[in-house]
Amino acid sequence: MGQFEADAAGRRALAGGVGSVPRAARSYDWLVVGAGPAGLAAVGKLLDSGVAGSSIGWIDPLFTVGDLGLKWKGVSSNTKAHLFRAFLKGCRSFGYEEAEGGFALDALEAQDTCLLERVVEPLQWITNRLQSKVSPIRSKVTKLRRVSHAWMVATPEGVIEARNVILAIGAEPLKLRHSVPVIGLEDALDPEKVKRVIESGDVVGVFGSSHSAMMAVRNLIDAGAKRVINFYRSPLRFAVDYGDWIRYDNTGLKGRTAEWAREDLGRISEETLLRVSANDENVSRYLPRCSKVVYGIGFGRRTVATEGADLTRYDAKTGVIAHGLYGCGIAYPERVVDRVGNVEYNVGLWKFIQYLDRVVPVWTRTASRAMEPKDPGGPARLEKPGLTPKTFDYAHFTRTRSLRSMPRLHN
Ligand SMILES: Cc1cc2nc3c(=O)[nH]c(=O)nc-3n(C[C@H](O)[C@H](O)[C@H](O)COP(=O)(O)OP(=O)(O)OC[C@H]3O[C@@H](n4cnc5c(N)ncnc54)[C@H](O)[C@@H]3O)c2cc1C
Repeated sequence: MGQFEADAAGRRALAGGVGSVPRAARSYDWLVVGAGPAGLAAVGKLLDSGVAGSSIGWIDPLFTVGDLGLKWKGVSSNTKAHLFRAFLKGCRSFGYEEAEGGFALDALEAQDTCLLERVVEPLQWITNRLQSKVSPIRSKVTKLRRVSHAWMVATPEGVIEARNVILAIGAEPLKLRHSVPVIGLEDALDPEKVKRVIESGDVVGVFGSSHSAMMAVRNLIDAGAKRVINFYRSPLRFAVDYGDWIRYDNTGLKGRTAEWAREDLGRISEETLLRVSANDENVSRYLPRCSKVVYGIGFGRRTVATEGADLTRYDAKTGVIAHGLYGCGIAYPERVVDRVGNVEYNVGLWKFIQYLDRVVPVWTRTASRAMEPKDPGGPARLEKPGLTPKTFDYAHFTRTRSLRSMPRLHN
């Protein structure tokens, strides 16, 4: 299972940041980092694009469907069943038709929402299947370094060389610093787990007005917290479905949480739920009354120590971070502008796969050009003015779209 000989010299060279070029124990054309839904989709789309499975490495510490499988199984989805099914059928190489009908998700009505566990089940099946088609490596990337034509990727077991790396490394909930015990979102969003961390006398401060924050407020009240104090910066925003497009698709409340906020929130007494603007005055006044806090203020991308690229910047239309380095998923989402000009970042399984459908063929084409002896491609060529039509795609992407830092993502 992807174990390889430790390369001590390589490890030292990478760890030190300078010195000799590390000798890689393994080499791939493509290395996908992360086996959450986005990494899964990236592997699937590479295979669908004709990349040989033997030239793809896939690295993750667990291969259990990323954070969805590890943290959010007990959370109710904001996506309807038909979109989850569209994801599962979104790659030929997933081979989902072989298993279709065998999962609880298959029996749901198209418009139903569900516990995320229902989608983790088929995603785990696909993960197991894809592992047999590529080279899975059960480990963690600790450092990336650009060396000549490739990336040297350090892991605790040794160094891997990859011409192209796709980062699908996910994101962590953001936190503020207050001296009040924190209930993690992992507990706050799960109606069963939250019962185990709440005592009847608890007054809980919830920061944020996102989908997560409102879900936490509801769960805490249902779990019997004495009082919830919700500190918000922005008013509640609801996703609005116009049939062929959704306003605030990524940032608005959806599903059961939206129903609850519309129908029940206004009826809850201030003794049970107090909602106040998160200004300094209110925080100084009300936070000392809280025995615990929850932060539902968005997500921030995970990172990996890197030399030769700045992982905080990427092209949010193409996923290009640097030459031969790409990003996708919740860590590197696509930037979209809706019909009335709202700018959002596309987060969600179905959106990840639609995005990869567009960009992976461009990534693979760029990579195969860079390997052609007569057309070395690479950064030097891309810097030249007067590009030939052959190099147009990649250059167009990297030049015309501004590189952007990660936005604060909501869920
Ligand atoms: C509470 C919540 C509810 C959501 N509900 C929905 C929903 O209903 N519908 C929907 O479509 N989307 C939903 N989403 C959004 C999105 O689909 C999930 O966030 C999804 O898990 C993101 O997938 P990902 O693959 O980008 O990241 P992750 O699932 O976080 O996977 C990243 C993987 O990368 C691995 N990794 C990280 N760093 C390294 C490293 N250095 N080396 C090796 N591996 C590494 C991690 O171990 C992990 O396995 C929800 C998100 C949240 C937080």
